[in-house]
Amino acid sequence: MAKEYGLVLHGGAGTLVKDEMTAEKERMYRSALLRALSAGEEVLKNNGDALDAVIVTVKVLEQEPLFNAGVGAVMTHEGVHELDASLMEGKERKAAAVCAVRRIESPISLCRMVMDSEFVMLNGEGAEQFAKEQGVPVVSNSHFTTTLRKEQLEEAKKNNRVQLDHTDNREKYGTVGAVAIDKNGTLAAATSTGGMTNKRYGRIGDSALIGSGTWADNRNCAVSATGYGEFFIRSAVASRIASMMEYGGLSLADAGFKVINHEVGDIGGDGGVISIDKDGNIACPFNSEGMYRAWVKEGTTLTTAIFTDDAVAHE
Ligand code: ASP
Repeated sequence: MAKEYGLVLHGGAGTLVKDEMTAEKERMYRSALLRALSAGEEVLKNNGDALDAVIVTVKVLEQEPLFNAGVGAVMTHEGVHELDASLMEGKERKAAAVCAVRRIESPISLCRMVMDSEFVMLNGEGAEQFAKEQGVPVVSNSHFTTTLRKEQLEEAKKNNRVQLDHTDNREKYGTVGAVAIDKNGTLAAATSTGGMTNKRYGRIGDSALIGSGTWADNRNCAVSATGYGEFFIRSAVASRIASMMEYGGLSLADAGFKVINHEVGDIGGDGGVISIDKDGNIACPFNSEGMYRAWVKEGTTLTTAIFTDDAVAHE
């Protein structure tokens, strides 16, 4: 029996404190979220795969300078961009990830190619070599740079703030991601990020890690995470939600709530996830002040939300 499609995306958690949100900023963020959601929905409407839908959605967000992925990605201590991304589909649990790539315009698209190879995870120059052999043109690292990210790095360095400083809540996590179910009932999840400002030593976050930042399994759910990556890795966030459903009998909403508020929250981490289950239920739990997100289910209106009680249905 054909299933109804559904798509959810995020543009990061905890990126803005409510007091700093102006009407103009809000309009910009909501319309960027809508553009990405509409692009992904188009794929699902036309009987496309969940995998293609999440890739298309994340690609739009990677090109959008407002978010911390692709253009607009944050900078490392050395003043460059190192991008992480991962991708998974739920039918055969095929998965792919790239990390610390510097010259790949769309890390999520490269993940799609890795998925078709014998490997799951490629890093840095090796991943770029693989891309070149697949005919993917490389771009210069400065392609991703924006004035805001340069200023943020300067500020972090000036204050001698370590890369994962927790005190400044501004513009912190702007990772992007998407989860979807298609009309065949296949689930998929995708996540892409620049990581954390002022990161160094080749630091890799949860967004590159299958099981932490990204997970999809047709038996239960698809999840994409955003937040303080170290805590998300230590909590195996995305696959833990799936396991709690599979073996603990929890609903998607209960599993997500427990993992974000207890597994992650209890050890000091913050952030959130977007998730969708095999029946098309959607849950977006977060323990940060906000999480840019948007969702649509077949036959319903596109909805965006940033903080807790501000969902707007866009006619
Ligand atoms: N989770 C990402 C990381 O730790 C950051 C983010 O969500 O923006 O690299």
